[in-house]
Amino acid sequence: MFKKRFEKMKHTGKLPTPSGLGMRLLVLTWDEECSIGDVVQTIQTDPVLTSRVIKLANSVKNTRQAPASTVKDAAARLGTKSVCSVGLGFSLILGNRTGKCPSFPYDEYWGWSLANALAAKQICERLSLQKPAEVFTCALLMRIGRLALASAYPDEYSEVLNRLQNGPVEILERVERERFAIDNREISAGLMEDWRLPDYFSQVALHFNGQEPPPGVESEEVRSVLRILNCSSRIANVCSSEAAAQPIHWRAARDFCDELGIDLEAFTELYDETVAEWNDWGELFGIPTRSGLEGVSIEKSSLKRGGVSTLLKEGRLRVLAVDDHEISLRLLVAHLEGDGYEVKTARNGKEALEVNKKWAPQMVITDWMMPEMDGLELCQHLRATEAGRKLYILVLTGRDEEDHIVEVFEAGADDYIEKTGKFKLLLARTRPGLRVIKLQEENEQHLQDKQRKNAKLEIAKRRLKDAAMTDSLTELPNRRSAIKRLEKEWADSSRTRGPLAAIILDIDHFKAVNDNYGHDIGDAMLWSTAQAINRSLRRGDTCARIGGEEFLVICPNTTLEGAKQLAERIRVAVEENEVTRPGFTGSVTVSLGVGYRAQGILSIDQLIKMADNAVYQAKRSGRNCVAAGYPEDRRQSA
Ligand code: GH3
Ligand code: MG
Ligand code: MG
Repeated sequence: MFKKRFEKMKHTGKLPTPSGLGMRLLVLTWDEECSIGDVVQTIQTDPVLTSRVIKLANSVKNTRQAPASTVKDAAARLGTKSVCSVGLGFSLILGNRTGKCPSFPYDEYWGWSLANALAAKQICERLSLQKPAEVFTCALLMRIGRLALASAYPDEYSEVLNRLQNGPVEILERVERERFAIDNREISAGLMEDWRLPDYFSQVALHFNGQEPPPGVESEEVRSVLRILNCSSRIANVCSSEAAAQPIHWRAARDFCDELGIDLEAFTELYDETVAEWNDWGELFGIPTRSGLEGVSIEKSSLKRGGVSTLLKEGRLRVLAVDDHEISLRLLVAHLEGDGYEVKTARNGKEALEVNKKWAPQMVITDWMMPEMDGLELCQHLRATEAGRKLYILVLTGRDEEDHIVEVFEAGADDYIEKTGKFKLLLARTRPGLRVIKLQEENEQHLQDKQRKNAKLEIAKRRLKDAAMTDSLTELPNRRSAIKRLEKEWADSSRTRGPLAAIILDIDHFKAVNDNYGHDIGDAMLWSTAQAINRSLRRGDTCARIGGEEFLVICPNTTLEGAKQLAERIRVAVEENEVTRPGFTGSVTVSLGVGYRAQGILSIDQLIKMADNAVYQAKRSGRNCVAAGYPEDRRQSA
């Protein structure tokens, strides 16, 4: 069904389109007989594109061809069709680096897409799969639907993005469907089909959900690309997320790669190469890339060690040790590291706050007396932040501070320990902290699972509700939904004393369409007529299908005169709406009846009756015309 919506959107003319050169490449992609010479000539007209295509060709491994120095060599390495689609992808980046949607993160979007594309290419190479450049393009354009929504509905989409911030994609897609009657994945698929990219592209865009491919996807080609993208998209997430979230994405990428048979060592290499290429390509396209991937370097180094890490799901526990006394600090670090903790240090409270911000430790062990900012002030500062509340904080005390121990707890510390050099005891005192952190982790996981389940449930409920309120053939609201809407508008008009009108339309001689051309053409006519009506409406009007070939248009805040004008506009639009199907071209006409909330019209039933009578009137006057209704009593007396 989404294809019809997509067609409608396409006709707005606001979807992203390749530049003139991109378009020429597309046409070549479609041309079965296009020669390598045609492609080379086309790309060579643009030196910028030329250099990028050659660069990509040379970055693809596993080919026996010599390095490329011309577009012709590039085509030999990548294949003619691949060169075309790569050129198309690049031309889209160049033409859509910025846009009009205020909240759409254009830089981040292209940064992510580029990382995804490069990672996907790397994975194909590792697995010695065919066509790494083609999969590169598929990954690059996989989320083009998001960009399309930002181009077609800049303000509305901006509002949606603002409202959802970084909410889960399921929710974003749900809201997209609510607002635009189509979601970004469906648009991506539509565009890819429209551009006639290889068949599997659109399937991949439609079904990608970051999980095991859905059972309905039968093509092995699609399934294997989906699996590659599970991994590449995680690597792209690492590239575009904050340090604290990077390890989680990194581990997910690692697990997905593992399933593909890429072992840890190969994965680490692949990852490093992707990031290097990403920085390189980012520079070439002027897309900002993050060079500091701290979260991952921590994660990588933690792989090499064991220790307390077995207690935690999230790798080694991160401890920030704070002391102004050099030797004490070194000893503390040595013992903590010896016990398997990942440790960073600071010399006073201020420095500790800095490290905390960048590194997000899970436990802080701090001396009390320090210059600049002491241990208790540090506690207070940390506890004042959301993340700081989750920290386990241990304060080291000197003998003479013992009398003021209550202050330690008042400042927000979890525990204290005397600075006696008994490190065995100190390590034992960190264990309760470890347990608390582990519990927190489990809780968070639990919460996330719950949220995910709730979101899924919400979506399922919403889908059911939508299905119950929507007519499946035309995708318009159905009769039930129309009555609800009318009730609401009736109540509003009672409250504001504003006018309200309703138009009923009935297709003329529709039975003959079915009889002469078959039910399928009849259905196509119905769908197309629904679209034609919808296009003629003003903001705030609603069109519903209330019977076989009958529609109701609800016009809030509209007088009889206004509704008559609208009805006439709809009549003309339907009459001019030509439907073309293989072996058939034709149009239908409609008879329209206008009802309005006149004096004496006391319920929505009476309003509908009034419009219905007017339709009858229009049919009697020869069809293909508009008739206005009269309140029952006046008609009888007339
Ligand atoms: P009039 O101008 O008087 O309205 O003539 P009409 O032929 O349109 O009216 P009639 O009520 O006799 O026939 C309506 C037809 O609409 C009959 C039915 O076959 C067709 N119809 C109703 N629902 C559907 C549908 O979902 N699909 C198709 N293809 N036809 C439908
Ligand atoms: Mg009818
Ligand atoms: Mg009819």
